[in-house]
Amino acid sequence: MSPTTRNILIFTGALILVGGALAMVNIENTKKIDISVLATDVQDGKVKDIMVDGTKVNVTLTDGSKVETTKEPVESLSEVLKNYGVDPEKTRAVPIQIKDAEGAGYWASILIQNVLPFGLILVVMWFFLRQMQGQNNKAMMFGQSGAREMPKDGKNPVTFKDVAGVKEAKEELTEIVDFLKNPEKFIALGAKIPKGVLLMGSPGTGKTLLARAVAGEANVPFFHMSGSEFVEMFVGVGASRVRDLFLKAKKSAPCIIFIDEIDAVGRQRGSGLGGSHDEREQTLNQILVEMDGFEPNAGVIVVAATNRPDVLDPALLRPGRFDRRVMLDPPDLNDREAILGIHAANKPLAKDVDIRRLAERTPGFSGADLMNLMNEGAILAARQNLKEIPMKALLDSIEKVLLGPERRSHVMNDEERKVTAYHEAGHALVAHLQPNADPVQKISIISRGRAAGYTLKMPTEDRSMRRRQEYCEDIAVMLGGYAAEKIFFGDITTGASNDMQQATRLARSMVTQWGMSEVLGPRTYGAHEDMIFLGREIHENRDYSDQKAITIDQEIDKLIAEGLKTAERLINEHKDAMDRIGKKLLEVETLEREAFAETINIKRPARV
Ligand code: ADP
Ligand code: MG
Ligand code: ZN
Repeated sequence: MSPTTRNILIFTGALILVGGALAMVNIENTKKIDISVLATDVQDGKVKDIMVDGTKVNVTLTDGSKVETTKEPVESLSEVLKNYGVDPEKTRAVPIQIKDAEGAGYWASILIQNVLPFGLILVVMWFFLRQMQGQNNKAMMFGQSGAREMPKDGKNPVTFKDVAGVKEAKEELTEIVDFLKNPEKFIALGAKIPKGVLLMGSPGTGKTLLARAVAGEANVPFFHMSGSEFVEMFVGVGASRVRDLFLKAKKSAPCIIFIDEIDAVGRQRGSGLGGSHDEREQTLNQILVEMDGFEPNAGVIVVAATNRPDVLDPALLRPGRFDRRVMLDPPDLNDREAILGIHAANKPLAKDVDIRRLAERTPGFSGADLMNLMNEGAILAARQNLKEIPMKALLDSIEKVLLGPERRSHVMNDEERKVTAYHEAGHALVAHLQPNADPVQKISIISRGRAAGYTLKMPTEDRSMRRRQEYCEDIAVMLGGYAAEKIFFGDITTGASNDMQQATRLARSMVTQWGMSEVLGPRTYGAHEDMIFLGREIHENRDYSDQKAITIDQEIDKLIAEGLKTAERLINEHKDAMDRIGKKLLEVETLEREAFAETINIKRPARV
């Protein structure tokens, strides 16, 4: 129950009580008569005496009974009786007492009847007014930043020890920490300390974590705010929040301001849609103004993080603002091992757990993925009531993180199982027999996420550059499932639709973005522009002619056709191997790398 409703209830209750009390006052056991009846009684000499109390007329009759009536306040009773045609003689014969109207009781009754209801109304009104004012105050608070300040020496602060990998970033930030600790050392040499550090990296690479580690290491106040928190419903709020944030920070210098996900406000100006992009611009302008406004050595360092540095406004990146830019790379094999180590530290691992092997099996995983992997492994082990986390739980978690949870309850009929087994065998066989495609790590016909079955392929090493030939082979692998269905069952199921999507997207990128088509030459087709609110590249600017569009389609078709031809050739040449894998899969459902190699029993060609 909200305070308001409770208060309303209390007041209603009070009103009912007071009303009841008032009603009680009036309850008397005398009979009420009309004033005309009184007039007749007086005329008939039936009245012994009368007492007038304000407008109330208490009458005692000659037979001893008491009755009561009321009259208008201004007229005197004798006048009233006269107006009713009572003989004045008769009236004079009845003793009339006028009760002293100044009595305390009289005033009390006046007060209770007239003032109290007003008083109550006033109290209720005052109450509501006060509440509304409270809300007003809240509205006034909108302009305040609401930045969370992490205490200087909170318990177990995050330090650089908790961040694995990202060596360059750590080095860069160590310098910042050093400045916050001993500014004199730098100032003595005339050095200007950067005002802003921009952390860039794909999601989950540890940007937020690293910023918190800086605060933990430097042991200074740390104001933490997310870019989206600046933007509110009301225009101008963002800007005033920025002002407030910097004001607070300057008061507690040396300190760090951390703006997470700065792309929410720092996107290139003039490229928004909808109304609130003005608000965003104002907020961004205010950030720029504030960053220009403080002295280089004021001891306030702004750390910002983004996973879209490409969309940031150039003004933010100008020297004197975020002039230090730190790139956080996705973790390589050694980093992954270290990150897994950090997140395994507080977990009881079984003897058979090999962190290195896990790291090998997880190329492309971000720091956040790896943390998630360890956590899923622990959850899995706990659900099996184990005391330690076994390697198997962790290996299973890799696929869970990659593809979603297993769906053992998803029952396939025999026909579906067979199609799925041969489909996956097709992917695996084509991957195995092409020298540059990623080797098969695991193949399974247990449903996971949205896939009926899956073939896990992993590069043996971390690569940041790929060749055209590798992509061509990838397309063949993607279409391996489709080819297998066609060859072995003479028909196609919907199971191949995701494969086709992937193959088409890859072929399109090869042709339009990476210049991998001879015919179209070394240029890109279609400039991708960002839609501010969706933040995804959904809007393609056509910068080519209709003729080229036709050629693009033709080139994509060519790549797909080539891939399919390769897949079909390999499967047709090794039908016996396909049967071996398919049957084995139907039997055991899942084949690990070694078991798969044994089953297919063909040597993988050397990489060229
Ligand atoms: P980002 O802000 O880059 O999207 P986060 O810093 O929020 O990513 O990372 C999410 C979580 O992933 C962290 O809390 C941490 O547990 C884990 N993590 C990510 N990168 C690392 C790393 N380099 N070392 C250790 N843990 C990491
Ligand atoms: Mg983050
Ligand atoms: Zn498939």
